[in-house]
Amino acid sequence: MPITVVQTKAELRAEIARLLAEHAGRRGSGASLGLVDPLAPRASLGLVPTMGALHDGHRRLAKAAVAANDVVVASIFVNPLQFGDPTDLERYPRTLDADAALLEGVGVDLVFAPSVDEMYPGGDPLVRVTAGRLAEKWEGASRPGHFDGVLTVVAKLFHLAMPGPVAGQPAAFRAYFGQKDAQQLAIVRRMVRDLDFPVDVVGVPIVRAADGLALSSRNQFLSDEERDAALVLSRALLLVDARAAAHEPLMPDDAVALIESQPGVELDYFDVVDPDTLEPLAFACRETPFTGEALAIVAARVGDVRLIDNMPLKAR
Ligand code: AMP
Repeated sequence: MPITVVQTKAELRAEIARLLAEHAGRRGSGASLGLVDPLAPRASLGLVPTMGALHDGHRRLAKAAVAANDVVVASIFVNPLQFGDPTDLERYPRTLDADAALLEGVGVDLVFAPSVDEMYPGGDPLVRVTAGRLAEKWEGASRPGHFDGVLTVVAKLFHLAMPGPVAGQPAAFRAYFGQKDAQQLAIVRRMVRDLDFPVDVVGVPIVRAADGLALSSRNQFLSDEERDAALVLSRALLLVDARAAAHEPLMPDDAVALIESQPGVELDYFDVVDPDTLEPLAFACRETPFTGEALAIVAARVGDVRLIDNMPLKAR
């Protein structure tokens, strides 16, 4: 079946209700007669929020959602609320037809691609979700308001996709986010916990190019030379990862020095943090043999492109 692309909230709700009913019916006892059985097992729903310009990282997210849910909806919305820089927003790649084809190839059922007006009728919302302390550091420090913008749109998407009284409660409602945006994932998990959203948040590992560069819709803005320079980020992460695996002191300053020695790369931060609180590990764990688990995070500017990357660390 060709994938359905809808642009309005009303169509989204109607299509989700239709798809869930169809799937529940298909599994029910009257399915062979074309009947929808009200007592049939309920269907599960997966949501994959994106800003489009999809690549293999998004593909992995969508595949994980398709594998675990009866019905999967992906959203494509370049959310103005989470952009501080108007030029960044304006030049963000928009490739809806190719995105829809990629999602169809993976087996996603429905694409929600609203206009800015549809999402924010009457202009920017007055009331927003705020990320609080978790947004003060790292990405939040250099992108004020970014995570409030993310949470506000994610909260709206959860409410819009969450099946209402017509569709009935799904067997499960899951939302898929990439580990690539580790701070975003931690903050969304925290919103779901603090505000009791009935959603299971699923984190999906980073997809990288063969040379180690984490895939990102912004990589296309890198020249060949800048792309080569950007490889220092994953090399720095692998340096501490190898030490973690060998129970050695992580010595993150060595990774900092490696990045700072790379021409064309302007380091914003490199640190080793607790994966949930994003607080830096205590000094002792950095300079003494590593045990346990942590997350190495990095952000840098390469040319005029800001790149982020991270790696879970585990003593093996
Ligand atoms: P974006 O379109 O950049 O907002 O990303 C949409 C979702 O895809 C987010 O949850 C990202 O974390 C995830 N994502 C982006 N790049 C990657 C990647 N290289 N590997 C895994 N997930 C990714």
